[in-house]
Amino acid sequence: MLKDIFKRSHIAKAVLISAAFIVASNAQAATHIFASKLITSEDSKMQSDKTVIVENNKIISIVDGKNQGGEGDTFIDLSGSTLMPGLMDMHVHLSYQNEGPSSYLKRFTANEADYAISAVDYAQKTLMAGFTTVRNLGDVTNETVALRKSISQGVSVGPRIYSAGKSIATTGGHADPTNGRSSDFMGNPGPLEGVVNGVAEARKAVRQRYKEGADLIKITATGGVLSVAKSGQNPQFMTDELEAIVQTAKDYGMTVAVHAHGKEGMKRAILAGVDSIEHGTYMDKEIIRLMRKHDVYYVPTILAGNFVAEKAKIDGYFPDIVRPKAAAIGPLIQKTFARAHENGVLIAFGTDSGVSAHGDNAQEFALMVEAGMSEMDAIMSATINAAKLLKIDKELGTITQGKLADLVAVKGNPLEDITLMEKIDFVMKDGKVVKQ
Ligand SMILES: [Zn+2]
Repeated sequence: MLKDIFKRSHIAKAVLISAAFIVASNAQAATHIFASKLITSEDSKMQSDKTVIVENNKIISIVDGKNQGGEGDTFIDLSGSTLMPGLMDMHVHLSYQNEGPSSYLKRFTANEADYAISAVDYAQKTLMAGFTTVRNLGDVTNETVALRKSISQGVSVGPRIYSAGKSIATTGGHADPTNGRSSDFMGNPGPLEGVVNGVAEARKAVRQRYKEGADLIKITATGGVLSVAKSGQNPQFMTDELEAIVQTAKDYGMTVAVHAHGKEGMKRAILAGVDSIEHGTYMDKEIIRLMRKHDVYYVPTILAGNFVAEKAKIDGYFPDIVRPKAAAIGPLIQKTFARAHENGVLIAFGTDSGVSAHGDNAQEFALMVEAGMSEMDAIMSATINAAKLLKIDKELGTITQGKLADLVAVKGNPLEDITLMEKIDFVMKDGKVVKQ
């Protein structure tokens, strides 16, 4: 099927190029996309019967009614469908996917190339699900930085990637890659491998990621569920280490995303000036107040919480040390999300895909709506809010004249049935149709 899409998009490209030749003396050939319903994400209004006109990779105008354009223009008729900005997932791991009990063995059997090749496949699945932009929050050895380059050069097919490279942890912390190994295999990972202790190493690890081409920094401020370690919520960075990371990241124009379940780790990270809290399980009133005061985004990942809670019921799915953490933390995230949303915390859509399967990202929408968020707000969390968190809202995140043409559509009205978001059947990225 993917082959067909490639073929078709190549044909479409060729048609566009030859069409451009024919009308070269006139205006440039444009693509006119008509949809019965339009969500621009500029506001919460649903509009009807609009044509979005795309030239090269940009939206050049939005007009009333069905406008097929002139000779040489391409017309795409999405009657009966809802057109929206390309979706954005702020928390994915494109080079990894949980495979059950064997996942823990993989770190001893898989090579860098294995991760890189899986990432190409997972990136395609993510784009075909309508996610035209993702934040990759942690890989093994910069394979998602390489993937980002390959996608932006048009060599492979996938979303726009903003990669944190390898996450930064402290010794024994969540994202210390040698947790749970025998001492023969434990070694002594340092800033190069994303493990830091103290201010100097924290600075070095950030600068190392800048040098390797990462776009942002991801740290693990508390314990986590899937690591082979006892606590899923203890604070794992000191305040001076967090401040060193945030200050250094700022020097290089990078934001800081923070994995956190426990309250103390979240509090220290927010006060140090980080940009987003991921998971946020034990967020209480004080944390909610601090997040609002410091304009910190919350990236919920309810899908991952539900996924690990379900798998914790299966004997032998997780190692013994992981299972009770998955059972305790997993089911709480949706309730945390409900509290945060009710109390006005900024929310950007994120799934932790790689825990659950890549391509299932849009299942998060229904979980958000089930927890009390409106369908429109859920869609905005995955478009304009996410673009603001990435600081790319001038170019992306809404359907607005002058912005880049990342567009998706579903048949029907997702405001009436949010699960339609799981059936995206039209995807345009950077002005090119990649799924229709
Ligand atoms: Zn994650």
